[in-house]
Amino acid sequence: MNSAAPSRIMGIMFKCTPCAAGCGNVAVSGSDLCGLHCADPQKESRRIAADIMKETNINGLNAAHLRFTGFDFSSKNYYGCNFTESYFSSCIFTNSFMRMDFFDMSVFIDCDFSNSDIQFSSFGACIFEGCKFDNSELTHLNFNGASLSRCSLDHSDLYNSRFNTAKLMQTSISDCNITSVYFINAEQTELSFKSSNTRDAVFKLERQ
Ligand SMILES: [Zn+2]
Repeated sequence: MNSAAPSRIMGIMFKCTPCAAGCGNVAVSGSDLCGLHCADPQKESRRIAADIMKETNINGLNAAHLRFTGFDFSSKNYYGCNFTESYFSSCIFTNSFMRMDFFDMSVFIDCDFSNSDIQFSSFGACIFEGCKFDNSELTHLNFNGASLSRCSLDHSDLYNSRFNTAKLMQTSISDCNITSVYFINAEQTELSFKSSNTRDAVFKLERQ
């Protein structure tokens, strides 16, 4: 099931149904309200988590502004889902297949994305603490403005991903392919690129 053709993926992006409270946010799948205006946010998170865990293919799910702690979301195929401005703590995303998913401005604490195939997705301005992305396909991803501390992305292919203005602290990007990966104005504190091809990455914008 890991070989959905792009033509199949088109048209399954999340629907932008506005929240009935009129706040301008997008309503959570299966609800008229957004994650901020639902009556019982914990119950809403549990309902969405249960939906994810019982399916193999998660298509166009809208789960923005929700909080998830301790869920096993591993071994799923996520297409065109919206998890923006959400909070994930101790959640497992190992062996995931993700295409065109949006996690922007979310927080991830001690989450594991290892052994995954994640492409054309966005983690802009996210906060990651103690997270793993090892042994993964992490190509064409947006980590612009993200903050990563105590994270590892070892033995992964990051081809054409973006870490511009990101903060990379006590983080390891070792034994990775970083061809055409952009790190413009990225802050590096105790960042390891051991055995990665830094010559093929872009650290400074230069005039042509
Ligand atoms: Zn709302």
